[in-house]
Amino acid sequence: MVSISDGQCGACAHFGGDHANDQQLVQIRISHQAEPDMVQPCGLPDNAAHALKVSPLSGCDGFTAAKVA
Ligand code: SF4
Repeated sequence: MVSISDGQCGACAHFGGDHANDQQLVQIRISHQAEPDMVQPCGLPDNAAHALKVSPLSGCDGFTAAKVA
């Protein structure tokens, strides 16, 4: 497991695309811990148009902090 900081995909509302609310991804946002080798689609429209896939450690200027319950 690795730690995820704000600005990284694992803490972004777009991480997972259509599956952003899956329990595994919600847990990453809550714990800020993730397996570094997982890969998920990015749901930011500009990136999704290119079918971008990212790891929890990736990041871009489109970062949007995910709300955590
Ligand atoms: S690539 Fe950018 S917009 Fe997509 S999940 Fe990562 S930080 Fe968020």
